[in-house]
Amino acid sequence: MENPSFLHPQYESLSRAEIEALQTERLQKTLQQCMKSPFYRKRFEENHISPRDIRSLGDMSKIPFTTKQDLRDNYPFGLSTVPLSEVVRLHSSSGTTGKPTVILHTKRDIEQWADAVARCLYMVGLRPGDVFQNTSGYGMFTGGLGFQYGAERLGLLTVPAAAGNTKRQIKFITDFGTTAIHAIPSYAGRLYEVMSEMGIDPRRDTRLKTLVIGAEPHSEEQRRRIETMLGVKAYNSFGMSEMCGPGVAFECPEQNGMHIWEDYYIVEIVDPVTLEPVPDGEVGELVLTTVNREAMPLLRYRTRDLTRILPGDCPCGRHHKRLDRMKGRSDDMMILKGVNIFPIQIETILMQFPELGNEYLITLTNEDANDLMTVEVELKEFSDDYPKLQALTKEITRQLKDEILVTPQVRLVPKGSIPVTDGKAVRVRDLRKTLI
Ligand code: ADP
Ligand code: ZN
Repeated sequence: MENPSFLHPQYESLSRAEIEALQTERLQKTLQQCMKSPFYRKRFEENHISPRDIRSLGDMSKIPFTTKQDLRDNYPFGLSTVPLSEVVRLHSSSGTTGKPTVILHTKRDIEQWADAVARCLYMVGLRPGDVFQNTSGYGMFTGGLGFQYGAERLGLLTVPAAAGNTKRQIKFITDFGTTAIHAIPSYAGRLYEVMSEMGIDPRRDTRLKTLVIGAEPHSEEQRRRIETMLGVKAYNSFGMSEMCGPGVAFECPEQNGMHIWEDYYIVEIVDPVTLEPVPDGEVGELVLTTVNREAMPLLRYRTRDLTRILPGDCPCGRHHKRLDRMKGRSDDMMILKGVNIFPIQIETILMQFPELGNEYLITLTNEDANDLMTVEVELKEFSDDYPKLQALTKEITRQLKDEILVTPQVRLVPKGSIPVTDGKAVRVRDLRKTLI
């Protein structure tokens, strides 16, 4: 099959100069569109700027940032740039970190979003004939409908299984000959475990070959584990409700960072403290401007996700920039004894031990003025070889200390004793009391 026209191959294969020309043109249109929203009109007036002041991408820094707080303060429709009669769908964020926010979509927005997701799935080799099972929650969570529309647009046979009921998911996989799955990383591990309990070998008993994993941070080690367990190739997928949902950035078959679709988004990485741009290759906060959206364009939106732009060209030939694996959100960062630590650093170490399972939980407590970190991690298999377990605990502790510069208390726990949720995994519990 030729690359179908709705995937806009002409955009996918743009050179850098062409990408920037297209972004400049689309940015102008977006700025005009933003002036239809009371929020942006006021923001521009307060900052004494007008769309005319933004002539090139180099002028981006004159545009004020938009934050999640702005979305909350103007909840629900304050950032809309079209009459509500033109809006065909709204998604509301899960509100895991506070008051909910709303994103609005016109019919065209929904179509463009479906095209972006279809482009991602096509890029990793999915074609009509493939059976695509989506284990995301449907409803407000954009991973459900986002992948549904994209996969249908591509002509895949879709199985909208939705979240939960793992045994039923597995029955769908075997009965319908599922070849591709979308799952969050923690759930991919769970699928494997329940398959093993049911005596199902994914390589022998299923047609699975592709996994799309995203929605939560995960390490390269975790990806490789999942690939080996399920006998698939797993592609990292990044999206967020404010940017529609899935389809923002996606790995190509090279699996070396996620191409961000720059015909949809202008990408900047800024220092989260000074808010000044950092050079390509350095880690900072991802800031995105939508340039292809009608109902609710967002200018310089601070995602709070920390990542970097990978320098150099991708051997696949696409020139859209590549985002490195997400390091986490700025609010995931733990500060312990003055050291900044991300859960993903801990996961990277744990996943290198074949004796360990996939689940872990980090608990922070304090005694007197002393911060303590406990890392509970499950063993893959039961063992009562205490000297061996002791040596293993010691080695994990040593490697963690090397990485995070703090000595955690490591506890090996039996498989199944760390609580799992249907949604995004909870990796950190902060039980520290504020000391007066
Ligand atoms: P919520 O903000 O309530 O979790 P979203 O579904 O919009 O709702 O979640 C988007 C967030 O999920 C992103 O901002 C990012 O922190 C995280 N995320 C999404 N995809 C990935 C990914 N591939 N790797 C790491 N984190 C991701
Ligand atoms: Zn590539």
